[in-house]
Amino acid sequence: MTTTVGVIGLGNMGGGMAATLARHDFPVIGFDLSQAARDKAAAAGVAPINSLAELLAKVEVVILSLPKAEHVERLCLGGEDVPVSAAADDHQAESLLALARPGLIVIDTTTSTPETSRKVAAALATRGIDFIDAPVSGGPKGAASGSMSMVIGAEDEVLARAMPVLEAMSGSRVHVGRCGAGNVAKIANNMLAACHLISTAEAVAMAARAGVSPEKLLEGVNAGSGRSGASQVMFPNWVINKAYDSGFTMGLMRKDVGLASDLAQQLGMELPLAHAVAQLWDASRATLDDSEDFCAIVQRTDQTLFGHGA
Ligand code: NAD
Repeated sequence: MTTTVGVIGLGNMGGGMAATLARHDFPVIGFDLSQAARDKAAAAGVAPINSLAELLAKVEVVILSLPKAEHVERLCLGGEDVPVSAAADDHQAESLLALARPGLIVIDTTTSTPETSRKVAAALATRGIDFIDAPVSGGPKGAASGSMSMVIGAEDEVLARAMPVLEAMSGSRVHVGRCGAGNVAKIANNMLAACHLISTAEAVAMAARAGVSPEKLLEGVNAGSGRSGASQVMFPNWVINKAYDSGFTMGLMRKDVGLASDLAQQLGMELPLAHAVAQLWDASRATLDDSEDFCAIVQRTDQTLFGHGA
């Protein structure tokens, strides 16, 4: 029997995931508050729908791709001002918890928090609904091509049932633990990405000042032990060419840097390097809006080398 999949949140990532699943011949129903996002998904073979209730009546698996943990919590559990349909005035308290049928599997790909994942999973379990956290890496290109990587927090049995859908939408899946563990791993990953962008900018700027071009420096680093996602993917694709069009915003990365600081604090850990990096991301608010590309953080290191007009 074919599994009908609902995708809630059809933005940079969710839109690509929905299109990928449709290409793999899953019937896909998509829901987003934005008409533009629904129209784009419709052009990629996704059936757009206007309300959460309608979507939940038709699907066996739901993918969430929402901005933050609070969006996941409100959509799943309800709360004030939960926007449930595309109509601007249709904000009400109906939630996935109230509307979904037992047997549904919810796969949350949002970069969220372990606490939200565990809280939502526990509440949904009371109605026979399973929840796994499966945050992703790979950007909009990875979502649209089905090559994203996932770090997954789930019970073995639920993961096995979700696997055909997960395999269709991702290139690699690492099961890191029970519910919530996926977001722990994703927060740690993005803490590293936030550090690497800045440390690579500093290395490139230092080498340029000493007479080695950014292109040659990156070629050398990528053949050596200083390489990272920043040197191998971010600088070549979005920084050196000044495109700054990765599809991941400064606002979302600031959220992830904040999640790492929160997690370290909850654990009573002092992480001096992560702390310094978080301060740099925070201070960049003075010059870089949340809507800018996250790679633009490198501009604070060397405006001449990395600035838009340089
Ligand atoms: P986005 O802002 O492009 O998309 C989010 C979408 O959710 C928007 O279209 C918005 O209208 C919709 N939305 C918000 N609340 C909703 C609701 N209640 N019901 C229905 N739709 C709702 O964000 P994105 O870049 O696609 O990121 C989504 C998640 O994936 C974030 O948690 C982000 O941190 C994570 N992520 C993003 C990237 C990337 O490169 N963009 C990479 C890895 C992980």
